[in-house]
Amino acid sequence: MKAPAFDYLAPTSLAGALAALAEHGEAAKLIAGGQSLVPALNLRLLAPGILIDLNGIGELKGVSVQNGHLRLGAMTRHVELERSPVIRQHAPLLAEAIRHVAHPAVRTRGTIGGNLCHADPASELPACMVALGAWFTLAGPDGERRVPANAFFKGVYETDLGPDEILTAIEVPQAGTNRRHAFLELARRSGDYALVGISCTAEMDGDIMARLRPVFFAAGPHPMVADHAASVLNGRKPTAALVQAAAAALADDLSPEGDLQISAHTRIHLARVIFRRAVARLVPEAGLDGP
Ligand code: FAD
Repeated sequence: MKAPAFDYLAPTSLAGALAALAEHGEAAKLIAGGQSLVPALNLRLLAPGILIDLNGIGELKGVSVQNGHLRLGAMTRHVELERSPVIRQHAPLLAEAIRHVAHPAVRTRGTIGGNLCHADPASELPACMVALGAWFTLAGPDGERRVPANAFFKGVYETDLGPDEILTAIEVPQAGTNRRHAFLELARRSGDYALVGISCTAEMDGDIMARLRPVFFAAGPHPMVADHAASVLNGRKPTAALVQAAAAALADDLSPEGDLQISAHTRIHLARVIFRRAVARLVPEAGLDGP
C-alpha cells in the first residue's frame, strides 16, 4: 500500500520545527529516519495532514562529551552509535546494543530520537537508556524540560512527550571507571525484534556487587527495571545460589504478554536464563556458569 497524501515541511531550525508543530497541531507528525513512521503510513495506520522533517536541523545532530556527559543529538543515526569511537569509550553498552537493532540498511537511516519516541516495548535502546540513567531534553513552546529516561517511557508506544514537543538530545552520565555492563537478547533471527532482552550495568566494590541495574525489554509495556532481582544481589558477593534466587525474583519485576511467537510463561523463563548469563558476564571472576 502507499501512504495517504500529506503536505511536507522541511524546517532548518528547531524554532522553525516547533512553530510548525504549534501551527498544525494534531494534524502534524514529525519524521526523523522514517523507519517506523513510513511503514505505519504505508499500512495506513496513520494519516497525518503534514509531515515535519527533522533531517535539515543541524542543532539536533552530533555526538559530543560536555561537562562529563555524553550528549547525543536526537537525529544521531543508529550507524553513528555503532561506529563512533566516542560512544565506544563513554557508553560501550550502546555500541554493543545497537548492533542488535534491525539491519545495516535500517541503521543507516534510523535515529536514536525516533527510536526512543517510537517507544516499542521490544526495542533495545530505551532499556539501555534506563540502565545508563540517561536524561532526555524535550523542547516545546514554553522552552526546554529534562526528563529521566525511566520516567519518559509510559507504556506500549507511549511516552511523556507532549504533542507540541520535540526530543532534542539525550545525555548519558559518564561512567565511573568501575562500571561494568552486559547486554543480551534472544531473537528468532539476527535483526529481528527481541523475544526478550536485558541491558544492565553494575559496579564491583572488591568482590561485592553494587548498583546492579538490570533493565529488560520485551518483558512488559516499557523498559522494566528488575528492582527485586537486583536487591537480592546488591551489597553481596554474587554466588550461583544468590543469582538463582535473584532470577526467581524476576516474577515480581516483569509483566510480559504472550503473543503468536511465545507465551508469557516462556518469556519469563527466557528472562531468567539471560539474567543469569548477564550476571555471569558482569563478574567473570566469580566463575558463575551461565546456563
Ligand atoms: P521515525 O520512523 O521517523 O519516527 C518514529 C516516531 O518518532 C514517529 O512517531 C515520529 O513522529 C517520532 N519522532 C521522531 N523523531 C522525533 C523527535 N526528535 N522528537 C519527537 N518525536 C520524534 N527498532 C529496534 O529498536 N529494534 C529492532 O530490532 C528493529 N528492527 C527493525 C526492523 C525493520 C525491518 C525496520 C524497518 C525497523 C526496525 N526497527 C527496530 C525500528 C528502527 O530502529 C527505527 O529506526 C526506529 O524505531 C525509529 O527511528 P526513526 O528515526 O526511523 O523514526
